[in-house]
Amino acid sequence: MKIGFIGLGNMGAPMAANLSREHDVTGFDTMATPTGITMASSAADAASDADIVITMLPNGEILRAVAAEIHPAMKPGSVHLDCSTVDVDSARAVAAQAESHGLAAIDAPVSGGIGGAMNGTLTFMAGGSDDAFAKVKPLFDIMGQKAVHCGPAGNGQAAKICNNMILGVTMIATCEAFVLADKLGLDRQAMFDVVSTSSGSSWSMNTYCPAPGIGPQSPADNGYKPGFAAELMLKDLNLAQMAAIAADADTPMGQAARDLYAQFVEAEDGRGRDFSAMLPRFEKRHRS
Ligand code: NAD
Repeated sequence: MKIGFIGLGNMGAPMAANLSREHDVTGFDTMATPTGITMASSAADAASDADIVITMLPNGEILRAVAAEIHPAMKPGSVHLDCSTVDVDSARAVAAQAESHGLAAIDAPVSGGIGGAMNGTLTFMAGGSDDAFAKVKPLFDIMGQKAVHCGPAGNGQAAKICNNMILGVTMIATCEAFVLADKLGLDRQAMFDVVSTSSGSSWSMNTYCPAPGIGPQSPADNGYKPGFAAELMLKDLNLAQMAAIAADADTPMGQAARDLYAQFVEAEDGRGRDFSAMLPRFEKRHRS
């Protein structure tokens, strides 16, 4: 299969490298990065001969600009597979534009981070037609370990932001509960042993415990080096709030989590730290 790959950053470069072991991949990025794959001189050039064009870009605005450039250049019947995390409206607009050019589109944001991209163990949440999903499925199998077809265009992004809204809220709840437990004289190991096997359990506690030395290995055991950076969590919580406003959904906990991560990243020392570094943040604070 001929694949065009646009956006070869932290995630895109290792995903493209994995695909290039089995397919003919031509890449493009606005930054000159050594990737080990054949590079084209423009996004349109990378896309024009491809059966599937993958984009892995920073945001919806850039995705829309790149889509406007590549869609007229793509072969009829080819597929635009966007794996970026973007707003639901951009995903749906790009899919509609693809269709108007006789192309198919899939939005398939990922979870699993840079480690998942390198090891080919990402999870894809996909939106688009059954036909288009079937065409890109062999590529999901190379780049990842799981792909869930969530429905029509935009539903991959919808699934991703709902999941990450739960994650942001449960991480904050887990961190503030650890600090309350500390102040009540409860041992952290006892707290973990109880909560991880009780109704307060969650992925944030059981798999990614924010307390160093407790539970399985996590970024907390590595000085809160990401992992999943607080600013990426903030990006996803902002996307969730944009979607909630557009859909008239009442999401007070998602809003509170967004506001806390915004404060942590923009006004405190959260930028560049793992999103579980909310725990040392709460440790330093008092009630007023
Ligand atoms: P990144 O900033 O490292 O990579 C983005 C790349 O896109 C850069 O190399 C940039 O030069 C390139 N780019 C920007 N504008 C372009 C254009 N017009 N044409 C071509 N290339 C262009 O970001 P990343 O960490 O690789 O993340 C990519 C996407 O994946 C984002 O939407 C992010 O939210 C999502 N994501 C990231 C992670 C993670 O852990 N890094 C995890 C899950 C999802």
